[in-house]
Amino acid sequence: MKALVKTSRGPGNLELRDMPEPTCGDDEVKIEVAACGVCGTDIHLWKDTFPSNPPVIIGHEFAGTVVEVGRSTCRFKVGQRVVAENVCLNCGGSCYMCTGGHYAICVKRGAQGLNVDGAFARWIVCKEKNVYRLPDNISLEEGALFEPLVCSVHAVLDQARPGAADLVLVTGPGAIGLLVAQAARTAGAEVILSGTSADAERLAVAAGLGIERVVNVHTDDLKALVMDLSGGRGADAVIECSGVESAAASGIELLRKRGSFTQVGLFGQRVALDMDSVAMKELTIRGSVSHTRNAWERSLKLVEQGKITLAPLITARLPLAEWHQAFEKFERREGIKTLLIPE
Ligand SMILES: [Zn+2]
Ligand SMILES: [Zn+2]
Repeated sequence: MKALVKTSRGPGNLELRDMPEPTCGDDEVKIEVAACGVCGTDIHLWKDTFPSNPPVIIGHEFAGTVVEVGRSTCRFKVGQRVVAENVCLNCGGSCYMCTGGHYAICVKRGAQGLNVDGAFARWIVCKEKNVYRLPDNISLEEGALFEPLVCSVHAVLDQARPGAADLVLVTGPGAIGLLVAQAARTAGAEVILSGTSADAERLAVAAGLGIERVVNVHTDDLKALVMDLSGGRGADAVIECSGVESAAASGIELLRKRGSFTQVGLFGQRVALDMDSVAMKELTIRGSVSHTRNAWERSLKLVEQGKITLAPLITARLPLAEWHQAFEKFERREGIKTLLIPE
């Protein structure tokens, strides 16, 4: 099968190669991949700014159809449409994070698409426990957006946990920001989503998703809006999804006293933030990465019930052979989510 392989460490070293079809282990499910989304992590692997164990097939945001089930599995049948987590627990599930339910930050965490073969290929095998049925009313292409969705639902419903009618500022309207904004609305929050002029297309999609307050910080006065909506206090919560220093800085500035700040975006470098404001306003700062089982289960329900919409985030589909074009689109911040379709 043709697969997109990181062949060795170092910038580039990514190529479409003929790889053997994977065999399904006793506790595994073999899935024919329908579509796999291009994510920032894939770009990091391409640039080699993120560790990997080459040679490895990359790609982790996928959905597909079960084509084979392992002997000791019981939950799936051939022909079912599924999505899967990419987590691999090299501790065997026994470390202090895994036993507490936080397996996504396992002390020996591995991941399909980074150090175990992933989904930019025709077939992938996954541990049965990592696989979930896709709701019948969701297409396989929408299913490819589940992994970023679940990261977003974890950030909002497990970590930031806004209350009903809280004013929540989400900075950065990429795929994660658009999903975080929708997830915050399901919690009853009033949401402002901010971006820059470079995000015009993304901000337009946000408005189409029904996010009431969409702000271009280059042309609109974000501070005036936050202060107006909060009676001069500031936002109750900020969820930072851009990984841009100025956005994080304005988030801290625009929080009310005792507000909460949740960091989701990655900066790729150290940044300078006003920690005196964190002390003086008694702010709470949290991080959020990857997901939990709770976030998977809630995400499946939220999408099935139509409370979160995925289709408008898919802005391009390309055959897997055109991966280079897709990665360049991502770098140019063109569109929101590009799906690669295996041959
Ligand atoms: Zn991803
Ligand atoms: Zn562990």
